[in-house]
Amino acid sequence: MKKNDLILLFGVLLLAAVLALVFFFTGEREPALTADIYVAGALWASVPLDGPIRDIRTPGAGGVNVVRVGDGEAYMLEADCPGQVCVAQGPAGRTGQTIACLPHRVLIVLSGGRGERGEVDVIAG
Ligand SMILES: [Zn+2]
Repeated sequence: MKKNDLILLFGVLLLAAVLALVFFFTGEREPALTADIYVAGALWASVPLDGPIRDIRTPGAGGVNVVRVGDGEAYMLEADCPGQVCVAQGPAGRTGQTIACLPHRVLIVLSGGRGERGEVDVIAG
């Protein structure tokens, strides 16, 4: 009986560990809640993804980027940078995804997985 309890306990712990690992490795695929927009290395704006669709014009270093945020995703709508790599990256809506405009030093980082939901709700008011 005692031995069985130990086996059961071990099984539960093992299952918990596996679930934690699975969550850790798939965590970045959680839907993002916020688009943090960095300009020249500093956080410039933090925009909720679940709000209405908005176009945000960033004062990029040496050019203009227009970030469209809303409907659960963010993407670079327009940019006057050479190459247009950032525009070509397309929409991102998962935690941990980034969209970068290197010439303008603009970086969009998607954040706020399930674990930070409460925090975001407080900010939303
Ligand atoms: Zn760009």
